[in-house]
Amino acid sequence: MSRSRGRHENTELETLDDVADAYVRLVLALQRHNPNYVDAYFGPHAWRAEARRGRPRPAGDLLARARALLDRARSLPASERRDFLECQLVAVESFARVLSGEHLSWRETLRTLLDAEPLPFRPDEVASVLKRLGALLPGRGLLSDRLERFLRGFDIPKSRLRAVAEASVRVTRARAKALFDLPSREKVRIRLVRGKTWAAYTWYLGRGQSVIDVSLDRLHHPEGLLGAIAHETYPGHHTFHSVREQVLVRGNGWREHSVSPLMSPLSLISEGSGYMALDVIMREPEIRDFVRQELAPIAGLNGGDLERYFAVNSTFGFGEHQNGVIMEAARRLHEERATTKQVVAFMTDCAFSRRLALGVVRFAKTYMAYICAYHLGLDAVKSYLGTGPDRVARYRELLCRPLTPSALRAARALSPRD
Ligand SMILES: [Zn+2]
Repeated sequence: MSRSRGRHENTELETLDDVADAYVRLVLALQRHNPNYVDAYFGPHAWRAEARRGRPRPAGDLLARARALLDRARSLPASERRDFLECQLVAVESFARVLSGEHLSWRETLRTLLDAEPLPFRPDEVASVLKRLGALLPGRGLLSDRLERFLRGFDIPKSRLRAVAEASVRVTRARAKALFDLPSREKVRIRLVRGKTWAAYTWYLGRGQSVIDVSLDRLHHPEGLLGAIAHETYPGHHTFHSVREQVLVRGNGWREHSVSPLMSPLSLISEGSGYMALDVIMREPEIRDFVRQELAPIAGLNGGDLERYFAVNSTFGFGEHQNGVIMEAARRLHEERATTKQVVAFMTDCAFSRRLALGVVRFAKTYMAYICAYHLGLDAVKSYLGTGPDRVARYRELLCRPLTPSALRAARALSPRD
């Protein structure tokens, strides 16, 4: 019976619009099996209500549905829109396989869920970062402890966290507004929260509105928080969602963009854009002037050795080093079945505090391959943007075109930019 129903459903999927609508409903049905699966949804209310009704549909049925949809998408004429849907459906199928009890290899996990190849872990590069960090933080004891102690000196007091976050929103919004066409009436609201596995999270509610959660359990220092706010808001996740809603969903009527499944290639593009967000709107000297003159005084931290603090940040940083170590930690958990204790030991050897390392392990176990979207996304988006005069225009394309990681790689191969 289910086979004949599958054929019947497929014959109704005449156009890409039909496949797109069925994809959104399938993603919502899969969320019943994993509440973290959907990062944002702003499509028809009735579809969400329908997905929530009754008992969850068995994972095996949803897997069969994903396969039928993928076949149908592949049979339709090629276009950028079709390629995006196909790429997302490969990830949906893979997620349904995992839910059905299959264990995918590391390579297959990244290929299918994120449309990416694993990046090799480079112990020599990590050793060089640790050597430079050691020179900046002389003293006794483990480097991870010395780093944590040093950064603690720049921890924003909880009573001032909101004011620093809001000042960061003001500057990043003004910069992003000057460069990108932000939707009218878009808005973000900062909320301080506890008990989460992440440092900050954007909840996109639709119609240009986002709630940005900032964790009170984490240490936040001024330059790091400015980067996190750009990543989450302008021109990061909030901008990404709100521009796509305006251009792709409302403008083109492409409803597949009204849902964001977390474990999918879309996340790789979104996280890569998030990591490049501050870099696209502010140069390093401007960032540091802003931290010295605005954020550090608001945080009450203008007495510290800010120059050494900046040097530590650019060494241990927010990008390649940290994300490379995090992805290697996730690989060891997945492929080598390493224990939490082993992974935490590896990460503290790479200068992560024990607290941060434990947080990464918890996050990796909760969000599966999603954690790799950081490292792979930064790598893909950074090389796609390049350093030329057209990088703002390229960033704009990331916001408002349905590009896939494969499309970014193809564009890079056609015109290498450096
Ligand atoms: Zn992010």
